[in-house]
This record gives sequence, structure tokens and C-alpha cells, in this order.
Amino acid sequence: MLGLMQEWPLLCHKIIDHAARQHPNREIVTRSIEGPIVRTNYVELRARSLKVAQRLERDGYKLGDRIATLAWNSARHMEAWYGIMGMGAVYHTLNPRLFPEQLVWIMNHAQDQALFVDLTFMPLVEKIAPQVASLKRIVVLTDAAHLPPTALPNVMAYEEWLAEADGDFAWKALDEHAAAGMCYTSGTTGDPKGVVYSHRSNVLHAMIAVMPDAMGISVRDVVLPVVPMFHANAWGLAQSVPMVGAKLVMPGGKMDGASIYELLDTERVTFTAAVPTVWLMLLQHLEETGKKLPHLNKVVIGGSACPRMVTEKFERNYGVEVIHAWGMTEMSPLGTLCTIKPEYDELEGDDRLNLQQKQGYTPFGVEMKITDDDNNELPWDGKTFGRLKVRGPAVSGSYFGGASAEQFDADEWFDTGDVAHIDEHGYMQITDRSKDVIKSGGEWISSIELENLAVGHPDVQEAAVIGVRHSRWEERPLMVIVRKQGKEPDKADILAFIDGKVAKWWMPDDVAFVDEIPHTATGKILKTALREKFRDYRLP
Ligand code: ADP
Repeated sequence: MLGLMQEWPLLCHKIIDHAARQHPNREIVTRSIEGPIVRTNYVELRARSLKVAQRLERDGYKLGDRIATLAWNSARHMEAWYGIMGMGAVYHTLNPRLFPEQLVWIMNHAQDQALFVDLTFMPLVEKIAPQVASLKRIVVLTDAAHLPPTALPNVMAYEEWLAEADGDFAWKALDEHAAAGMCYTSGTTGDPKGVVYSHRSNVLHAMIAVMPDAMGISVRDVVLPVVPMFHANAWGLAQSVPMVGAKLVMPGGKMDGASIYELLDTERVTFTAAVPTVWLMLLQHLEETGKKLPHLNKVVIGGSACPRMVTEKFERNYGVEVIHAWGMTEMSPLGTLCTIKPEYDELEGDDRLNLQQKQGYTPFGVEMKITDDDNNELPWDGKTFGRLKVRGPAVSGSYFGGASAEQFDADEWFDTGDVAHIDEHGYMQITDRSKDVIKSGGEWISSIELENLAVGHPDVQEAAVIGVRHSRWEERPLMVIVRKQGKEPDKADILAFIDGKVAKWWMPDDVAFVDEIPHTATGKILKTALREKFRDYRLP
């Protein structure tokens, strides 16, 4: 027997319809690329999204066409997303921090038909656009007065392009499984892979994200997504914030400490989210100026492990709750969040900070398990670590074009490529990437744990640990260190600092000092490049 409830497909434009009806005047504030702070609201944003959809259709774009965006967080970028989705096309976010040749590869792979671009990136587009044959039009997210001269064909200012539509458009009645968005993983291991979100997965992901023990966003919040819309779907905030009708503050291209502080303060932001690097800049700014954060309640930190010191400073010095989160582009991206269950209520001081170093537990809608290499499930005891696998309605089932099928098990679990342990209360902690874990005498050593310890040394700027070949043990850990300016710690200092904090057989066999550690476009340590650099390294 079937249930007898209505069909109400989960479509992204229903989110913006809801926001416009229930929260019409709630503000959306943007630090514009042109300079000034500009204000709009959900009713206006929806109206302009309808114009985007109408104009795209008039220009001949069709259901399923990929429309690229190369832009910072702004109201214009967001209305472009909703317009693209609402006419049945697919927003495809491009990460401007990638190399031009990577962008060309990705755009050709996705067969992007049009591009919405911020002024900031016009010099980059001049280089890449001629190499993408599928591209029919470039819309610069500005008005005619600010449109720079360009030799590229088919370039138009967004405001002019939009003015030719009156917004008399009905959202397409789509299947909820239709593609809505697309984002390529950064491809630190092989070619980038296209993740394709559906309307349904975006809506469900937003519902998962706003739950009280996940991000816990309310209509009473003022939300500043510092995490860019091109980084893993902006962690879902472009959907979850209008879903609850909260005020939205978009930072444009300025992510330095002073600029972010200014928005937090003047717009009375209560909730914000970004990678650790952004928060290091903000904390430094606060310390230099003696400023406080009286309005901010919560900050979500993820993308890479949140340094203990960041959590400690936010909570103790500024009274801001830190939620450490883990996820990936393939998961829309939320996987786990470290909010506190009653089981851990009694933890205080350092013990509580230790818990917050974990990446947290899954909300409803995400399942996880850890397995050994033969897919046998491992216990949740807080120490046994294995391959972290996930599934759920907002987790990728395959990649665009069918790349890397080996990451998807026959039973539909997705192998995240992360290595983790899970404790008895369900809190997961990442110990490594499976490609970076050091295999020594058949056992695994966590490179991340060693790195986290090393950066606790007062003279260490950055640390990376890689496995180097060893005749007897297969691999042994080599620690690579960037010293703080003006400091000269040596090998013995570093090893003495780590000694006693890990098992003896985890101790690095050697320490190498370098001026710089290579990073990916999203700021993560590029271990492949480091391994290449130390390929012929002989341990002492
Ligand atoms: P990109 O490399 O483009 O940033 P993703 O955002 O999808 O791509 O990266 C996901 C990966 O980032 C995860 O698989 C994990 O290795 C790492 N990661 C994300 N959040 C955390 C976290 N809180 N702690 C440790 N690692 C994290």
C-alpha cells in the first residue's frame, strides 16, 4: 500500500519562493566588487532570478546546459544560481584559485555554454575563454558603466543583459532528480572530477544543515558565508539561509581580517563559516586592534582540520561557539559536525578542546562507517582507524562522465579517501588521507597527528609529514618543517617536543627544513609535490 500524500518535488527554486513569501524584506547585504555595500532582499532577489531564467531561455539555453560562474559571494551570484536552476540549467562553479590550464580542462570537460564572471576575474577569462569552444556568451556581473574593454566576443554587462527580461517567467516543472549544480574537486590526485548536485540533494542537504545540532541556523540569525560559493557548494549556505529566511551578508572578494571584521560588526553577524586560514587572519586582526566580537554566536570551521588554538581563542577570548565540521565536495559538502552531545556535557577546559579537535558526528541524512582494506567494518572505539565511507541522499553516486568508479562500492558506499577513527559516542576524527597515511611494517601512522603536534611547537610555522621508502619497514615518516621567521629550531628540538606524545614507532625518522611547503588551490598541503621532492631522499 502506498502513502496518499501529495507529490511535491524538492526543487531549489521553491526555497527562494518560500523566502520571498515569508521573509520578503529580510536583507541581503553585499560588499560589491565595485566597492560600495549594496542591499537587496529576498523578494527582489527572487524577481531578478526569474529574469535570469527568462533571459537564459530567450538566449537559447536548454535544460541541463552547464552555465559556469567564476565569482565571489554576492547577491548577483546567488540570483544567477537560482535563475540558472529555475530554468532547468546547471550552475557550474569555477574556482579562480586553480591554474588557468586546469580551468580550461574543467570547462571543456563540463562543456560550459555560458559564463557569469566577476570583474576581478576578467584578466583570467581573457586567457581561458578562447580555449573553450562550447562557450557562447560571457556575462560580466556588473553594469555597463563598469564593463571593462575586452577583445572577447559576446561579452555583456549583467545589468544590461538582465534589463532585456521582464521577469514574467514560470519556474520549470522539473523532476527533483534533475541536475541543479556542478562543482569539480580540485584534483590533487589525477584529473579533476565533476560532482553533480540534484535539486533534491541540494534541498535535502539544506534541511540537514539547518538542524539545531548541525549548523543550527534560524530566522533570527545574520549569516556571513565567508566560504566562497565556488568552494564545495558554499557548504550549502546559499540554500539553507534563504530556507530559514535569515539575513544574509555576502563578503564579495575581501576576506582579510579587517574587511571581515567590519562586516561582522556593522551588520551584527551572528553566524559565519569558513576555512581555518580565514579565522587565523581575523584572530590576528582582533589581537592587533583589541577589538571584540559582541554579536557573533557561532562559527563553523572546516575544509581542513581546525587548529586547537583557533577554537580556544574564539571560545575563551571572544565567547564564540566553534563548530568544527568535516565534509567534501562529493557530500554537498556536509558530513559531520562537532556539536556537543549530552554524553560529553561534563567535559571542561582542555578535555572539551580535545573533543572539539574531532570532526564530529553525522546528522540524520549522512551514514558513515570505517573499514579495513578488505571492506570489513571496524569498531567505533576511538582508536582503530580505517577507510571512512559514507552514504546519503546528498552524497555523490558517481562522477560526471563516469570517472573514478572505484571510489563507489557495489553497496553504494562512497570511499571518501579519508582515514579516521570513530569513538563510542559516534564522534569521528580524521587521522589522514588514505593516500598520505604512512604504512610502516604493516601498521598505519597518521601523518596529520604528527603534523598537528609539530605545529604546536612555538618556533614552527608549518609542518608536513610524508612516508619515505624504507628497506625494512616499507615506509617511515619524514617530517618537513617551515620554521617561523627568525627562529632556528633543529631536528633534536622538534623530536624532543614530539617525544612522549605518540607511540615510539610513530616518531619521525628524520626532520627536513624547507622555506616553503607547496599548497593546493584550496590551501591544503600538496603532499604529491612534497613526495616528489623527497623521492630520492635517504633516511639516516
Ligand atoms: P578541495 O580539496 O577542493 O577543498 P574538498 O573541499 O572536497 O575539496 O576537500 C575535502 C577534503 O578536505 C576531505 O576529504 C578531507 O580530507 C579534508 N577536510 C575537510 N574538512 C576537514 C576537517 N575539518 N578536518 C580535516 N580534514 C578536512
